[in-house]
Amino acid sequence: MSRVRHGEKKVLARETPVQDKPPTDTPPADLVILGARQVVLCDPGKPDGIGVVEGGAVAVRGELIAAVGPAFAIMALIGAQTRIVDARGGIVAPGLVDCHTHLIFEGDRSSEYFHRTQGLDDEGLVAAGLVWGVPASRAINAGLPVERLAEAALRRARSMLALGTTTIETKSGYGLDHDSDLASLEAARLVEEVTGVEIVGTYLGAHARPRDGAARYLDQMIADTIPAVAERGLAEFCDVYVDPDVFTVEECRRVLAAAADVGLAAKLHTDARVNVGGARLAAEMKAASVDHGNMLSDDDLRALADAGTSVAFFPGFDWAVGHPRPVNARRFACSGINVALATDLCPVCWHLSQQMSMGFACRLSGMSPEEALLGVTLNAAKAIRRDARIGSITPGKQADLVVFDVPDFRQLAFRFGSNAAAVVIKKGRVLVDATRLNPRDEQ
Ligand SMILES: [Zn+2]
Repeated sequence: MSRVRHGEKKVLARETPVQDKPPTDTPPADLVILGARQVVLCDPGKPDGIGVVEGGAVAVRGELIAAVGPAFAIMALIGAQTRIVDARGGIVAPGLVDCHTHLIFEGDRSSEYFHRTQGLDDEGLVAAGLVWGVPASRAINAGLPVERLAEAALRRARSMLALGTTTIETKSGYGLDHDSDLASLEAARLVEEVTGVEIVGTYLGAHARPRDGAARYLDQMIADTIPAVAERGLAEFCDVYVDPDVFTVEECRRVLAAAADVGLAAKLHTDARVNVGGARLAAEMKAASVDHGNMLSDDDLRALADAGTSVAFFPGFDWAVGHPRPVNARRFACSGINVALATDLCPVCWHLSQQMSMGFACRLSGMSPEEALLGVTLNAAKAIRRDARIGSITPGKQADLVVFDVPDFRQLAFRFGSNAAAVVIKKGRVLVDATRLNPRDEQ
């Protein structure tokens, strides 16, 4: 197991914002996590680049983090009613943030996945007469009622929560019509109410190009759907798929400008297979994020960094579709851009685990374990513009916390294919406690 050296330990402890002796009128914490080998703040401003507090503890009051620091200091905040969570020698990290998913869908496209594993690419699927991609999902999803869509997504959302994901961004876009898009975003709200997972809605009407041409569809989107989404508060972002055979840069500019007029911030699926200039538009429009980005040029990266636009990439998706050019995250990291990691969960990429995303990112995309953990926490929160509230263990931020049953945070990116999340806390409430199912093995 990796530990900080003796001298470093003192520095880390001294830098931690905590009262050594709280004043007597400080109310006790509602919840305290003790027994952790590491608390990982996910604060890139710390000397070690991520903020590991060896032997640290965390106190929660209400929905917020009250204090974090050495266990002896946090123990002073324990009162008669304080709930103690025993981390059992594991680590405490911020709740994971999945900043790009298509959580709400019915049906799966596993047959498409297996055709791809057998060597068929997009052209091969067409030549074989197979309907694939968003049109295949549309045939199943268009016109489904809100409850049915929510039911289809609930089990996935619960699994994601059990894997440590406490915030999920999700997009509409499988019905390709006004009512289906609204139903998808309303279903997402229902999933939030039922599971307690925080949902961030994104309107993605421009997900696939209608066969009968885009002009009328885009006109209706701009005149009716975007205003309706904003009026009902169903989304914070508007996303457009900009790629050959989908939407053009100019069409995207029109949609995102209309969305900006009603307060929806921009996101783009773009430059995934070909560099079509989507990133340059994203920088020009100060988009929140460019997503995929496999083909981004060095000039694109500089423009995005200057604009404060994040890049979110999906090594699990690249793996699932056999992308010929998976993202090289080292290029991103060197450009000074905010780099976020997500699953891109969708009907052809049934990928729920941000722990697994970390494993993919290190092995396939050249990230360090520190970069990968920041990618699924603070950097993912920045990509959905919630970093002032979530993404790091900082007093005053929302108490979204996960106890992982690993001795060192780097193990999260190493033990791929397993679930290390033991206790998942959202807004100060314990929503998952796997330790009750796994009584402690005394060592
Ligand atoms: Zn996507």
